[in-house]
Amino acid sequence: MNEHFDVIIIGTGAGGGTLLNRLAPSGKRILVLERGPFLPREKDNWNYHGSFKYYSSEVMFNKDGGEIRPGFSYFVGGNTKVYGAALFRLREKDFESFRHKDGISPEWPIKYRDWEDYYTQAEELYEVHGKAGEDPTEPWRSKEYPHPPISHEPRIKEVFEILKTRGMKPYPAPMGVRINEAMMHLSPCIRCDTCDGYPCLVGAKSDRSERRANRLHGRRGRGFLRRSELVGVAVAFGE
Ligand SMILES: Cc1cc2nc3c(=O)[nH]c(=O)nc-3n(C[C@H](O)[C@H](O)[C@H](O)COP(=O)(O)OP(=O)(O)OC[C@H]3O[C@@H](n4cnc5c(N)ncnc54)[C@H](O)[C@@H]3O)c2cc1C
Ligand code: SF4
Repeated sequence: MNEHFDVIIIGTGAGGGTLLNRLAPSGKRILVLERGPFLPREKDNWNYHGSFKYYSSEVMFNKDGGEIRPGFSYFVGGNTKVYGAALFRLREKDFESFRHKDGISPEWPIKYRDWEDYYTQAEELYEVHGKAGEDPTEPWRSKEYPHPPISHEPRIKEVFEILKTRGMKPYPAPMGVRINEAMMHLSPCIRCDTCDGYPCLVGAKSDRSERRANRLHGRRGRGFLRRSELVGVAVAFGE
């Protein structure tokens, strides 16, 4: 392959897809390599048994030889096609050295304050619904969420109120879903009863990254989406 690209992005999931969104307007020649196809829109998207087919059955092994079945979803959009779209920010202490049950998470070279503006931009891109100040564990933020929190389902509302009367501090999870509760007749999200773990049949999870990849598909221009699995990277060092 003799073609020249300014940027090659491998994978169109949360990471690659978000990067593609940022770089696409830059005019750079971008090649996106994605091993998976577009996820089909079909009734199985919202079917408990049918939806298992969107997960890979591959087996990985941990350092002791134990089996791990990661259940990745290899499609354009990556695991954002099936995720629950609860989009929390990491906490400030997550960037510090932190002891978990299974070991120490090392300190990051960059901190929450370095990420804060990017979180704000990502929340806009992913159309996150939430309310600042409700979650007592949330780190500081420079801006309110771009959209109001999603109202509770009736039973969750009851539980929410009970928890509050018991002195607890429940809060609405920040959700990256394209819902317009003020005008449900125009809302992409219809509040179906499947979401986390299922692809959205009506494409209402905030997957602007995937939509960007969609636009590249089969188009001539400065961006190219190729179905291709990267199996290795060879790096040649010059003199
Ligand atoms: C059921 C489920 C629910 C989840 N719910 C949430 C949630 O509510 N909130 C949250 O924050 N996170 C959630 N997650 C996790 C979240 O989806 C992942 O953390 C996130 O998608 C990871 O982004 P990524 O870009 O690293 O990888 P991925 O999104 O997995 O993207 C990787 C991409 O690379 C492609 N690829 C892989 N290998 C190759 C190769 N060799 N060559 C070319 N392409 C390749 C894949 O096909 C895929 O498109 C959930 C995950 C799952 C499975
Ligand atoms: S319609 Fe709404 S609730 Fe249902 S899967 Fe799509 S985003 Fe989730």
